[in-house]
Amino acid sequence: MPDELLQRLRRFHDDYFPGAQERFQSLVREGQHPGILFIGCSDSRLVPYLLTGTGPGEVFMVRNVGAFVPPHDGSVGYHGTAAAIEFAVLKLAVNRIVVCGHSHCGGIRALYEEATPQAPNLAAWLDLGREAALPVRMTREALRRTEQRSVVLQLERLMGYPMVRERVEADRLKLHGWHYVIEDGEVHVFDVRSGGFVPASTADHSGTGPFDPTPVDDGSRIFNEIDVALAPAPRAL
Ligand SMILES: [Zn+2]
Repeated sequence: MPDELLQRLRRFHDDYFPGAQERFQSLVREGQHPGILFIGCSDSRLVPYLLTGTGPGEVFMVRNVGAFVPPHDGSVGYHGTAAAIEFAVLKLAVNRIVVCGHSHCGGIRALYEEATPQAPNLAAWLDLGREAALPVRMTREALRRTEQRSVVLQLERLMGYPMVRERVEADRLKLHGWHYVIEDGEVHVFDVRSGGFVPASTADHSGTGPFDPTPVDDGSRIFNEIDVALAPAPRAL
């Protein structure tokens, strides 16, 4: 049987790499400085490089079943996703974090199904999505809503990481919630002001987190005007 995987490795080295050699070597010389931490589901149909048109050195990626974010609850252990978040924010100083779920997500669907006894780690991991599940019969619509609710839930958990919250509040880090609809080839972005997901084709931004940095006009503007009125008049020339 021909080893197809070996052939693919050789094809990368012989056909692709020569054209990208300089890029990879400069990324080795200069080190990586990706601007984005992408937390996505492991699903094979979600291809972040295609969606974002990015290549080597641009996206630091962590993927897991369901695109879940564990809580920052003081526990320390073999928490791969938490470690990646700490590394990306503290060491790489990314300025964006994307949480990307998708349609037909097996992890979300599993929230409505019986656990597999042979997969205790999977069952425990799915707890990170349970809050997003709805107390309804599993329908296509319920699954879609759960997938989207889960993205927002994970973004909220991200805000529980002190290093994330600090930077988001200081406007040095931006969170983006995405839901990728595989069959349409379109990402729907979370809009914190409407509380819903908007197709990228009609959205006026690339997604928000659960934190809206825009100051609300709560009437305080009048004080600004008073400040202006009380400020010393410009000296006459
Ligand atoms: Zn998935």
